[in-house]
Amino acid sequence: MKLFVDRLKQTPAELAFGPDDPGWAEVLESVPELRGALAEPPSVTLRAHRMGQDAYLEGVLTGALELECSRCLVRYRSPLREPFRLVLEPAGGRVPAEPEAARDLARLGMCLGDELELGWFEGPAIDLRSLLREVVALAVPVQPLCREDCRGLCPRCGVDRNRETCGCEAERPASPFAALAALRRRQEP
Ligand SMILES: [Zn+2]
Ligand SMILES: [Zn+2]
Repeated sequence: MKLFVDRLKQTPAELAFGPDDPGWAEVLESVPELRGALAEPPSVTLRAHRMGQDAYLEGVLTGALELECSRCLVRYRSPLREPFRLVLEPAGGRVPAEPEAARDLARLGMCLGDELELGWFEGPAIDLRSLLREVVALAVPVQPLCREDCRGLCPRCGVDRNRETCGCEAERPASPFAALAALRRRQEP
């Protein structure tokens, strides 16, 4: 998953890493959130060009995920599509303060800063695996939802409220304040 920074020109060059690229193994392994969630191996296409001393990269990661809805626990398939862009400037002998970034710069010829959009490179070629690891990690939702308005499971009887209606809803007090008031009334002598 290499990009030859020294060969970049002002007009963008197109680059693609398909699902069969051997570099994915390390990328995917280093994202624990992804375990069991990959329905289709990812691929990435990107365009890179030079801007003065800097390298400008912009691309998109695509694939498919299979996730478990955090509200109703149904497993669903979701397209994976994560655009990204970043500017890499020459490290020029600087060493990143963060140990992981320093390791990446030495091993892969590039490292990311605090922001994904900025980084440093060193040498003629960079390996994009650390960047793709971050992009993949961003693409996995923290709270997966099978659909925006998923009604979830009933907290009392456990039915899937997307498919069935239960009687519990009606019994529930209108607001948490009402529940509190009822509790207070009960506690009064
Ligand atoms: Zn759901
Ligand atoms: Zn219920």
